[in-house]
Amino acid sequence: MIFDGPGIEKFACVSEYYTGEMADWETVIGLEVHARLQTKSKLFCGCSTAFGATPNSQVCPVCLGYPGALPVLNRRAVELAVRATAATGCTIHQRSVFARKNYFYPDLPKGYQISQFDEPLATGGELTVRVGESEKKIRITRIHMEEDAGKLLHEVPGTATRGDSSFVDLNRAGVPLIEIVSEPDVRSGEEAIAYLNAVRQILMYTDVCDGNMEEGSLRCDANVSVRRVGDPLGTRAEIKNLNSFRFLGRAIEFETSRQIALLGRGERVVQETRLFDPSAGETRSMRSKEEAHDYRYFPEPDLLPLIITREWIDEIRSSLPELPRARGQRFARELGLPRGDAETLAANRQLADYFEQTAVLAKNGKAAGNWVKNEVLRTLNERGLSIAEYEVEPARLAALIRMVEDGTINGKIAKEVFEEMSLSGEQPLEIVERRGLGQISDPSVLREAALRVIDENPSQVEQYRGGRTAIFGFLVGQLMKATRGKARPELANSILRELLGTPEE
Ligand code: ADP
Ligand code: MG
Ligand code: ZN
Repeated sequence: MIFDGPGIEKFACVSEYYTGEMADWETVIGLEVHARLQTKSKLFCGCSTAFGATPNSQVCPVCLGYPGALPVLNRRAVELAVRATAATGCTIHQRSVFARKNYFYPDLPKGYQISQFDEPLATGGELTVRVGESEKKIRITRIHMEEDAGKLLHEVPGTATRGDSSFVDLNRAGVPLIEIVSEPDVRSGEEAIAYLNAVRQILMYTDVCDGNMEEGSLRCDANVSVRRVGDPLGTRAEIKNLNSFRFLGRAIEFETSRQIALLGRGERVVQETRLFDPSAGETRSMRSKEEAHDYRYFPEPDLLPLIITREWIDEIRSSLPELPRARGQRFARELGLPRGDAETLAANRQLADYFEQTAVLAKNGKAAGNWVKNEVLRTLNERGLSIAEYEVEPARLAALIRMVEDGTINGKIAKEVFEEMSLSGEQPLEIVERRGLGQISDPSVLREAALRVIDENPSQVEQYRGGRTAIFGFLVGQLMKATRGKARPELANSILRELLGTPEE
C-alpha cells in the first residue's frame, strides 16, 4: 500500500526512522537534470525561445506538429550540448540518433517528444562535488539532447477560470534541452544539492544554460530508494517537480522516511512516479508502474543520425573556459586564499573574473579576495545586484586596496571610501583628498594629539600606569577619535605607549 497519510502519521515515520532499530538504512539517489540550452531559436525550427512572451506567440507548424512539417536541427544547440558533455568529462559519441518518445499529453502537440534513446550524444562522465569537508565523485550515465514540451496553465490570473479547465502555452514546445542522468551514486539530500549545484555552476560557466531555476531553465527529478547498507538496490520512486535546491533536499528527506517506514512495517515500496508538494512538504503518488507509459521509442524518421566531426569536438573542447572546481583550486594554490573563500569566488564566472582582475591590478590576491568576498558580495546582496550590474570596476577597487597597502589610508577609512565610491562613481583617491581622509603618519602631529588624550583622560591614564593595562585599548580609541580615525594605527599605538611610560607590574 502506498503511504499517503495525514501529517501526524508522517512525523511518526520520521521518528521511527531516527530512533528505531533501522539506523543501518541507506538512501540511494540518481538524478535526472533537464537544462534548457541558451539558444535564440528552438531545436528544430526558427521560433524564438525567449522566456515570458505572450502565450502561443512563438510557435510554427514544426513545433505545433502540423502534418508534413519537417524538423531541421539547430547547430548552435548541438554545439552547446557538446560543450556540456565535454565539461562533465563524458565520452562524446560522433554518431547519435534522435528518437521519438511517444505519449499523449495536452502539452505535447506532436504526440511524441523528439529525444535520444539508445544512441545518446554522450555517456560515462563524472563530477567531483564537495559535501561538507569531504569530496565525492558522482558518475554521469549519459547526456542526451531533446526538445521541451509546452506548459499547462491551470490558473490564469485575470481570467474567471478556476479548476474546471486548463490552458496550454506552446511557446516552450521545441525549446532545446539536454538531460543529464546520474548513476545512483548520491546518498543524501545534501549530496544531491551539492551535485545539482555543481552541474548548475558548470552549465552557467560554459554558457550552456542560464541556470534560472525559477523560470524552469534547470529542472531536476530525483530517483530515490532505500536499502540496508550492503544490500542490492531497492525499488525506487521517481520524484518530479523539484525546481529548487530546498525542495530537492526536502523531497529526498521525506521520501527516505516514507520508504523506511513502509519497509519497517513489512510493506513494500512501489515503483512509481511521485510529485513533491512544497506546501505540504510531502511527495504524492502520480502514477504507478502499472500505469507507466510505454513510450514505444523508435528512431526519428525525419532526422538523419547526428554526426559530429572529431575536429568540431576538439574545437569546442578547446574553447571551454577553466571550470569552477579547477579555478577554485588555482585561487587557493596560487593566491593563497583559504579553500572556502576560493570556492566562493570561483563559483560564478563573472564574479571570478571580477576577483581575478582586481587581484592582478591590486597585486595582492589575499586582500582582493577579502574585499570581494566580504564587502563586494555584501553590497551586491544588500542591493540585489549581480556582479555584472555593479558600478565599482576592478580597477577602482584595486586602487583602494593599494591605498591601504601603501599606508595612504587605514583599513577603517577604506571601508568608508568603499561605501562612498560604490555610489558616487569617484576614484578612491578623489574621495580621500576631497574629504581629507588621508592617514596621519606624521609623528609630531600624532604626538600632539596623544598628549591631548592623556590630558583629557587623567583617571584612565592613572589606571593604566597603575597596572590596568587593558585600558590601553580605550586610550587608543580616544586617539583614533581625536584624529577622526585617520591615525596610522601602528604609529598611534607606539607613540601612546611611549608617552604613557611603563605601567607598574
Ligand atoms: P527511467 O528511464 O525509467 O527513468 P533510468 O534507468 O534511466 O530509468 O534511470 C533513471 C535514474 O534512476 C538514473 O539517475 C539512475 O541512476 C536512477 N536509479 C536507477 N535505479 C535506482 C535505484 N534503485 N535507486 C535510486 N535511483 C535509481
Ligand atoms: Mg526517468
Ligand atoms: Zn516553431
